[in-house]
Amino acid sequence: MKLTFIGADHEVTGSCHLLSACGKNILIDYGMEQGKDYFENVPIPVSAPEIDYVFLTHAHVDHSGNLPLLYAKGFRGKIYSTDATCDLCNIMLRDCAHIQMQEAEWRNRKAKRNKEITQMEPSYTMEDAEKTIKTFIPCRYGEEIDVCDGIKIRFTDIGHLLGSASIEVWVTEKNVTKKIVFSGDIGNKAQPLIKDPHLTDSADYVLIESTYGDRLHSTERPDYIKELSEILDRTFARGGNVVIPSFAVGRTQEMLYFIRKIKKDGLVKSLPNFPVFVDSPLAVEATEIFNDNRYECYDEEAMELVKKRINPITFPGLNLAITTEESRAINEDPEPKVIISASGMCEAGRVRHHLKHNLWREECTILFVGYQSIGTTGRAIIDGAEQIKLFGETVDVKADICKLEGLSGHADKNGLIEWMNGFTAKRPKKVFVVHGEDSVCSSFAKTLKDEYGFDAYAPYSGTEFDLISGTFIKEAVPIPKKTKEAALVSDVYARLKAAGARLIGIIAKSEGMTNKDKAKFADQIIALCEKWGK
Ligand SMILES: [Zn+2]
Ligand SMILES: [Zn+2]
Repeated sequence: MKLTFIGADHEVTGSCHLLSACGKNILIDYGMEQGKDYFENVPIPVSAPEIDYVFLTHAHVDHSGNLPLLYAKGFRGKIYSTDATCDLCNIMLRDCAHIQMQEAEWRNRKAKRNKEITQMEPSYTMEDAEKTIKTFIPCRYGEEIDVCDGIKIRFTDIGHLLGSASIEVWVTEKNVTKKIVFSGDIGNKAQPLIKDPHLTDSADYVLIESTYGDRLHSTERPDYIKELSEILDRTFARGGNVVIPSFAVGRTQEMLYFIRKIKKDGLVKSLPNFPVFVDSPLAVEATEIFNDNRYECYDEEAMELVKKRINPITFPGLNLAITTEESRAINEDPEPKVIISASGMCEAGRVRHHLKHNLWREECTILFVGYQSIGTTGRAIIDGAEQIKLFGETVDVKADICKLEGLSGHADKNGLIEWMNGFTAKRPKKVFVVHGEDSVCSSFAKTLKDEYGFDAYAPYSGTEFDLISGTFIKEAVPIPKKTKEAALVSDVYARLKAAGARLIGIIAKSEGMTNKDKAKFADQIIALCEKWGK
């Protein structure tokens, strides 16, 4: 009975753990690594055909995105998830396949232009994604499911995304039963539509995420309805559009929930019957899935509306654009409107067309409703860029740039601790902290240990743990990702110098960062100097 840590260890993306028990190999999540990533993941030590089951916590691609790759490599087992996760994966994995095929096609076209022979293959195809979806076994929350001899699981609502779950796994070998609880991503309380995270009260071992393990959300919950209606009111009074770059799944439906309320209460005086366009095929499909799963997944407030035969995420004036013609028509009509479109960080998708049409108009507003990573178009706009490049053209930023602060799908440090303190019937013998930035994993493990008395540990990829004896088989050390510079220089001192030069380069280019990030960056460098400068 063994647990191997594969991905999202001292990192946020690429969630994957391998449980080997009862003669079976089971993956818990198999997500894609996204964005900047500092450590190498160890490869899964067994081949894809040898994997028997996958237990999936939720549909976000950093947890599910590599499942079609597993299928392409020969996995023919079963994937267990909640009903809603299964529905969302149906659209999200196909979307991933589509993006990868497009990207490969684009690169191959470029290679052909440059007379290169190498052809890029997408890591998986639409067919792989579609066949993967057929291997899903949809489950209900709260149901105990016998997976095979000796292995039983249960999904509990963790309030992070529609269908998101923590998973309890009971494993029995030779009359010894151990219970391992995988937290999945723990939700933020009081999010619209979905429920608050449910607690689990007993475990032998716990794996907990730590995305915000070092941060607290503001205690004062902003009045989003008021903020949003004021932004809409003043933009429409100027005759402008409000463009909302938004993640297609989750955040878009939250926005619809707020807008329904705003319309019902007549809070936008300048244009009470304003039209709203959702322009993202994925968001439109996801909205349908929210509707389909309302009885299982909605919170009390949303269910109150459902009981009154009111759909909480629809209203008069809502238009769902699916075809490219419908998308194009949105900007041809001069009437002020709300346009919600993906991607959330403006890196791809139809939102870039809407930015091109609205960013230069000072009567318009671009409203950000989610975190914008450094280096993205969304971040550049928020940080005050005066011009943005879109489709090879330079567009002036003249529109009003606004933000709805504090919308988050993740619990903060207090929320994570509250979930840990839920283990009242049986406190876990060992807690593994995963799914957080390098320093956050370590600091949150220290908090759990020093302040709450848990035996907490933040493993690196490759760590192996014996669940019967409760001891490490292997404590892995981090394997830093090979950067271009590192590959060129084999001499260690030269590598260190190159790293230093890179740091200077980043500092020189740090002007675009917010003051908060600059301060954090400075603190981290100072801490490094303190550590190594002695
Ligand atoms: Zn997630
Ligand atoms: Zn995640």
